[in-house]
Amino acid sequence: MIEVQHLSKFYNDQKVVDDVSFTVAQGEVLVLLGTSGSGKTTTLKMINQLVEKSSGSVLIHGKNTETYKAHELRRKIGYVIQSIGLFPHYTIHENIATVPELLNWPKHKINSRVKELLMLTGLPENMATKKPHELSGGQQQRVGIARALAADPDVILLDEPFGALDPITRSELQHEFKTLNSDLQKAMVLVTHDVLEAVILGDKIALMDQGKIQQIGTPSDLIFEPANDFVKKFLAQNRIQLELHVIRLNDLQKFTSLRLSTKEDALCTLAEYLSKNDDDEILKTYFNYRDKIISAYGKH
Ligand code: ADP
Repeated sequence: MIEVQHLSKFYNDQKVVDDVSFTVAQGEVLVLLGTSGSGKTTTLKMINQLVEKSSGSVLIHGKNTETYKAHELRRKIGYVIQSIGLFPHYTIHENIATVPELLNWPKHKINSRVKELLMLTGLPENMATKKPHELSGGQQQRVGIARALAADPDVILLDEPFGALDPITRSELQHEFKTLNSDLQKAMVLVTHDVLEAVILGDKIALMDQGKIQQIGTPSDLIFEPANDFVKKFLAQNRIQLELHVIRLNDLQKFTSLRLSTKEDALCTLAEYLSKNDDDEILKTYFNYRDKIISAYGKH
């Protein structure tokens, strides 16, 4: 569990992160969402001490990170960045093994961990001997995730991890990532400027503007109960698509009156109806139905 308490950062006289607080439990993904310059990356980097905070504190499992030794903190916190940051002259095996090597794990333990991580992140075992440039962007990002998981940290920080990927690979990795975390039970903080990514991946979203959290809550909280005009405007784009991600299967089944086995099926079916969009009646029914959902279920 990670607790961020009243974190602030000044650069010269400018307050770029302003009294940010949140908690992330094991198994949870908290998304820091906001436009460029809103203070997301600075907040993230204060968690793993890549940026020195001006004030506030960060606790992991109730213990202040200032009291951890540097190597302890490295083991506790994994870090994934957009440009991946793989070492170009190292093999994939060596890249994944970086932190375990630093921690002086025995060779056999490192070897079996690398094997396990390749499998977990959907990479073939024979990739271990290749160099990063021999892999596609998506495969390299998988290695980035494997490397962050290597020493089994409790907390993982991800800065625009899927930002550099093409839309198809991106969507594929987003969905795998979601499944992965429900198995791994890590506390994750993920930075993105992409609203849809935030709604797909976040258990909670903290929407930031000018260094401040404007609202923190579930995707459904932000979409259906925006705290202020900023939040409302930020989520106005792709509104229907966002709503489709948070509406529950039962709600959709009632709407479509079809028997659909998974939420994804239901979402696709409704999205298909809506994308045709030449039927005003469907859209009207959808909006009426949506209002009923909100009054019936509140923020759920
Ligand atoms: P985001 O991740 O939301 O794009 P950042 O956290 O990177 O935002 O930056 C927040 C603000 O802090 C921006 O105005 C940026 O210019 C400023 N900033 C970031 N790093 C530095 C630095 N090293 N020196 C001075 N200003 C910085």
